[in-house]
Amino acid sequence: MLMSKRMSGLHPYVPGEQPKDRVYIKLNANENPYPPSESVQNAVLEFVKNHPEKMGLYPDPDSNELRAAIADMLNQSGGVLCRAKIDGKKVLPSDEDKLAFTVTPDMIYCGNGSDEVLSFLFYAFFDSSKKFVMPEFTYSFYPVYAGFYDIPIDCVPLKADWSLDTSEMIKRAALNNGGIIFANPNAPTGIGLKRSDVLQMLKAANQDEIFVVDEAYVDFGGESCISLLSDFKNLVIVRTFSKSLCGAGQRLGYIVANPELVNIVTTVKNSVNHFPIDAIAQVSGTAACRDVAYYVDTSRRIVQERDKFYDFLKENGFFVIKSQTNFLFAKHQKIGGEKLYKAVKENGILIRHFATKGIEEFVRISIGTPHQMEMLAQAILKAIK
Ligand SMILES: *Cc1c(COP(=O)(O)O)cnc(C)c1O
Repeated sequence: MLMSKRMSGLHPYVPGEQPKDRVYIKLNANENPYPPSESVQNAVLEFVKNHPEKMGLYPDPDSNELRAAIADMLNQSGGVLCRAKIDGKKVLPSDEDKLAFTVTPDMIYCGNGSDEVLSFLFYAFFDSSKKFVMPEFTYSFYPVYAGFYDIPIDCVPLKADWSLDTSEMIKRAALNNGGIIFANPNAPTGIGLKRSDVLQMLKAANQDEIFVVDEAYVDFGGESCISLLSDFKNLVIVRTFSKSLCGAGQRLGYIVANPELVNIVTTVKNSVNHFPIDAIAQVSGTAACRDVAYYVDTSRRIVQERDKFYDFLKENGFFVIKSQTNFLFAKHQKIGGEKLYKAVKENGILIRHFATKGIEEFVRISIGTPHQMEMLAQAILKAIK
């Protein structure tokens, strides 16, 4: 037999479609509709033009400049871009997002998209002899990694209002002693937990087991748990450039955690791929972090457009969950999720439909530019008429 035995256990993640047959308005993968800032574009051009020799050399394996820039960005913004204050060229955290300490570069591990970072976390901290806890509906890559590394899962159903059942999650985590992971705000629901709720969970959890909070969407209005890192050595916060930093194409994700945990993940990295972040992505990511004000502005635009579109959906017969992310999760009282997805696609717009039982009536709509959302509104009105 050609294939290894472990291949039969693989069930790969299916991303939002990236069609080649025609140009769609893409509102199906929570990508950012705005381009990276001009200083990012210029930094990449400058690098390629003036340092072509560096493209023939291996990049810094540990992305030190980029990690320092990420730490700086977090300290400036407090970890939630849409609420950060712009003061000339300077960015300051809002009062509620002020960090309790300064984030240092040794607290950052950066990898090839947070998907890769998550895979290393699963390898390093979850065990095949113990179940880890996650919510029933959350980022669907977590169970894929569990399959890849052969780690059993204990899935906790969401509450009736679609929020996380934190007390049940903690109860199960205490039974299993195998760690916990969830997205905050959660996907595909868009609902966030308060930092005080996560603090209660952390206090109740076993401090010797890993506690992972995926903050992919936090810049759009959630509460970051970075401040809790000083008290919990088992806490790992995962973040990405793909959503709020307009960078899904450059594949950058990172963790913020205790330096000891950063070292453990670095050991995994050095056992798989010594150079996961190419030289150009290191340049563009560093430039993005140094232009925080631009991303504060784009995050605010998306938040504004999201809340406007929430009202539109409500006024037109949808059940919509209030969102702290760059997407809305909604179902119409008459037309089903798949039908709506197809009708909208015929009008050249992609939104996301999950065939998963329990959420099959919903669609997930990523927030685009005002023009894109206007086009979508027209397509939806046509579909529900
Ligand atoms: C988009 C997303 C990711 C993946 O981000 P990449 O950095 O593009 O790999 C991780 N977690 C959640 C919850 C996401 O929605």
